[in-house]
Amino acid sequence: MLGKMMHQPLLISSLIEHAARYHGDTAVLSKEVDGSMTHSDWCTISDNSKRLANALQALGLKRSERLATLAWNNRRHLEAWYAISGSGMICHTINPRLFPEQLSYIINDADDRVLFFDTTFLPLIMAIKDQIDHVEHFICLGARDEKVLEQLPDVLFFDDLLAAHTADFDWPQLDETTASSLCYTSGTTGNPKGVLYSHRSSLLHAMALSMPDVSALSAQDVLLPVVPMFHVNAWGTPYAAALTGCSLILPGPNLDGDSLVSLIDDYQVTVALGVPTIWQSLLTAAKNSGSKLASMTRNIVGGASCPPSIIKTFREDFDCDTRHGWGMTETSPLGTMNQIKAKHKSLSKEELNELRNLQGRPPYGVEIRVTKTDQPLERVAEDGVSQGRLQIRGHWVIDDYFTENKDAITEDGWFDTGDIATIDADGYMNIRDRSKDLIKSGGEWISSVELENIAAAHPQVKMAAAIAATHKQWGERPVLIVVKEAESELTEAQMLEFYQGKIANWQIPDKVIFVDNILLNGAGKMVKKDLRDEHGDVLLSA
Ligand code: ADP
Repeated sequence: MLGKMMHQPLLISSLIEHAARYHGDTAVLSKEVDGSMTHSDWCTISDNSKRLANALQALGLKRSERLATLAWNNRRHLEAWYAISGSGMICHTINPRLFPEQLSYIINDADDRVLFFDTTFLPLIMAIKDQIDHVEHFICLGARDEKVLEQLPDVLFFDDLLAAHTADFDWPQLDETTASSLCYTSGTTGNPKGVLYSHRSSLLHAMALSMPDVSALSAQDVLLPVVPMFHVNAWGTPYAAALTGCSLILPGPNLDGDSLVSLIDDYQVTVALGVPTIWQSLLTAAKNSGSKLASMTRNIVGGASCPPSIIKTFREDFDCDTRHGWGMTETSPLGTMNQIKAKHKSLSKEELNELRNLQGRPPYGVEIRVTKTDQPLERVAEDGVSQGRLQIRGHWVIDDYFTENKDAITEDGWFDTGDIATIDADGYMNIRDRSKDLIKSGGEWISSVELENIAAAHPQVKMAAAIAATHKQWGERPVLIVVKEAESELTEAQMLEFYQGKIANWQIPDKVIFVDNILLNGAGKMVKKDLRDEHGDVLLSA
C-alpha cells in the first residue's frame, strides 16, 4: 500500500520560490568586480533569475543544455545559477584557475552552449576562444561595457538581457532526478572528470548542510561563503541559504585576510566557510588589525586537512566554533562534519581538542566505511586506529562520471574516495592522507598530513608541505617544504627539533627545504604533485 501524501519533486526552483515568498526582504549583498557593494534581497534575486530564464528561452536554449560560468561569488552569478538550473538546464561552474588547456578541455567535454563571465576573466576567454567553438553565446556578467565589446564584438550583457525581459516566468515542473549542475574535479591525476548533480541530490544535500550538527543555518544567520561557487558549488551554501532564508554576503574576487576581516565586521557575518589557507590568512589579518571577529560564532573548514593550531586559535582567541568537515567534488561535497555529542561534554579540554581535530562524522544521508588497501570490499575495524580506504555512499554521492562511463563505484555500491582514513566506534573519521600522498618508508606508512599539522603549529611557519622523496635504502622518506613567516630566521635544525616528542623519531622528516612560495590550486590547496616533481629526488644526491 502506498502512503497517501502529496508527491512534489525536490527542485532547485522551489528554493528560490521559498526564499522570495518567506524571506523576500532578507539581504543578499555582493562585492562586485569593480569593488562596489550591491545591496539586494531574495525577492530581487528571484525576480532577476526569472528575467534571465525568459532571456535564455528567447535565445533558443533547451533543457539539459550546459551553460557555463566563469565567475566569482557575486549576485549576478547567483541569479544565473537559479535561472539555469530552475529552467531545466545545467549550470556548469568552471574553476578559472585551471590551466588554459584544461579550461578548453572541460568546456568542450561539457559541450557548453553559453559562457557567462566576469570581466576579470575576459583575457582568459580570449586566450581559449578559438578552441571552444561550440559556445554560441558569451554573456558578460555586468552592464554594457565598450572595452569588452571591442574584444568580443558578439558579446551579450547580463544587465541588458534582464532589462529586456519580465519577471513573469513559471518554473517548469521537472523530474527531480533531472541534472542541475556540473562540476569538474581539479584533475590532479589525468584530465578533470565531470560530476553531474541532480535537483534531488542538491536539495537533500542543502537540507543536510543546514542541520544543527553541520552548519546550523537559520533565518538569523549572515552567511559568508568564502569558498568559491566554482569549488563544488560553494559547498552547497547558495542553496542552503535560500532554503533557510539566511542573509548572504557574496565576497567577490578579494579573498585576502584583510578584505575578509572587513566583510565580517562590517556586515556582522555569523558563519563562514572556506579552506584552511583562507582561515590562516584571516587569523593573521585579524590579529594585525585587532579585530575580534565578534559576530562570527562558527566557521567551517574543509577541502584539505585543517592544522589543529587554526581550530584551537579560533576557539580560544576568537570564541568561534571552528567545525572541521570533509568532502569532495564527488560527494557534493558534504561527507562528514565535526560536532560533539552530548556524552563528550564531560571530556577534558585536551580530549575535546583532540576530538575536534578529526574530520567528523556523517550526517544523515551518507554512510562511510574503511576497507583494506589491497582488498577494497573487505572492511577494517572501526576502532579509530585501523586505517584503510575511505568509501562512501548516500543520496548526494556520485554514481558515475559525466562522460567517462568509468565505473566510479565498487561492485557493492560504494564510492572509493582515494583517501586513507580511520573511523571510530562513534563514526568520527580521521583522514590520514590521500593515498597518493602517503609516504612509504621501509614498508611503514607516514602520514604527510600529520607532519604538516605539526609544522603548521610552529609560530614561524606560514605554510608547510610534506612530500615523499625517493630514498636508496628506505624507498621513500619524508621531506618538508616550508614557507617561513616574514622576517623569520628559522633554521632546518630548529624545524626538525620541533618534531621531537611529537611523533616517533623515524617519522621525522629527513630534510627541510625553505621556499618563498608554495603554489596553491584553484581550490586553495597546495599543489603537492609539483613539489614532488621538483624535490622528489633531493635525497638521492645527498
Ligand atoms: P581534488 O580531489 O581535485 O583535490 P576536491 O575538492 O574534490 O578536489 O578534493 C577532495 C579531497 O580533498 C578529498 O578526497 C580529500 O583528500 C581532501 N580533503 C577534503 N577535506 C579534507 C579534510 N577536512 N581533511 C583532509 N583532507 C580533506
